[in-house]
Amino acid sequence: MRILIVEDTEAVSKILKHLIIQELECEVDVAPDFASAVSLLKQHQYFLVVADLNLPDAPNGEIVRTVLTEFTTPCVVLSGNLDAHQRKNLLKQGIVDYILKENRFSYQYVVKLISRLRRNQDVKVLVADDSVVSRKFVKALLELHLFQVLEANDGAEAIEVLDREPGIQLLITDYNMPRVDGFELILNVREKFSREDLAIIGLSNDNDESLSARFIKNGANDFLQKPFVHEEFHCRVLNTLDALDMIRSLWEKANRDHLTKAFTRRYFFSQHKDEHNDQGMFTVALLDIDFFKKVNDTYGHDVGDQVLVEFANRLDQAFGSHFTVARFGGEEFVVAFKGLGAEKAGTLIDKFRQQSFDMPIVTAAGELQVSFSCGVATIADETIDGALKRADELLYRAKQAGRNCVLTEES
Ligand code: GH3
Ligand code: MG
Ligand code: MG
Repeated sequence: MRILIVEDTEAVSKILKHLIIQELECEVDVAPDFASAVSLLKQHQYFLVVADLNLPDAPNGEIVRTVLTEFTTPCVVLSGNLDAHQRKNLLKQGIVDYILKENRFSYQYVVKLISRLRRNQDVKVLVADDSVVSRKFVKALLELHLFQVLEANDGAEAIEVLDREPGIQLLITDYNMPRVDGFELILNVREKFSREDLAIIGLSNDNDESLSARFIKNGANDFLQKPFVHEEFHCRVLNTLDALDMIRSLWEKANRDHLTKAFTRRYFFSQHKDEHNDQGMFTVALLDIDFFKKVNDTYGHDVGDQVLVEFANRLDQAFGSHFTVARFGGEEFVVAFKGLGAEKAGTLIDKFRQQSFDMPIVTAAGELQVSFSCGVATIADETIDGALKRADELLYRAKQAGRNCVLTEES
């Protein structure tokens, strides 16, 4: 990613360049005037141009039109001051945003904006609105911020698109639509997508004051009254996506182990606490690395960590796409084989044990051969705790029997 700063005040371009490089690790060029900006624009493909309106050889914002129309590159405007008329005019030309050179927060805002734009390229947004004019307007605003935009004519079509297209992060929906209206749509969507999966912003040009509250009570994250101005729209979208990122990162913290990125014990139980005897088709395997303390004692804790990370990766590679793999604590892992009996699950784990043992783990201290012991038990007429307890007993016996083996409960 490459950014161009067009700014004649060296103090400003220096701070901005420093902040952008530090936070975003990208290439930054600086042009002190219009002529050198054009020359750089001809040489490189820029992700974004941050442009000062007042340049020695172009004092009236000429740079903006050039960047937008000749080079079709997204443009953020930096300015000492702007009156309402200038602001409107710039937004109409299609700049991404404008920033007043007021204080250091202004520069941080630029950095945050660039970082958001970079991520937006991977964010899919669905716009559901039966008014073509309104839909196209919202779509254009979103595309200005580099989002991938999908459209739906009404609530029913939105449901179809959400079913068909994986990974939509934001739904922007109008209230009044034929077939399925905004409220019904949200109620329907919230049955399938939680708040960490999908954010929703409601829109309406209805004058009913209770709409906003009703949207939010039904599961929307935010609401916008039409007509709205450009900037209000972007601020709401950015805030909503920031909140989504925050919820997701909290979710990750609670459900993924920090070191190995495997699921946590908490996640494991959230998924499987209600499992019951499913005709002998729910099996758990408890794995514990052999003599792991010795790895720590001999090579140090960091090398121990490397072994854990690689071991978790291998488990995930082998079983993660079909079954739940979690780190239960320390060097102990669990795999929940939903849909398998003890014998089949035991065979799979034993094959993994053999393959993993034959493939030394590469660490900073060289290649280490690591084995594990394992107990495998199927849930009977009990809760999942019963099966885990029996798997643990079998694991203990596997250790007693000399380690590097899998003991499976007889069915
Ligand atoms: P056994 O074959 O009987 O299982 O012996 P062991 O040495 O593997 O088992 P023990 O329970 O005695 O030791 C487990 C060690 O794992 C002790 C603990 O310090 C270490 N450990 C737990 N969590 C971590 C971790 O996150 N990183 C590292 N490096 N070590 C950890
Ligand atoms: Mg151990
Ligand atoms: Mg242990």
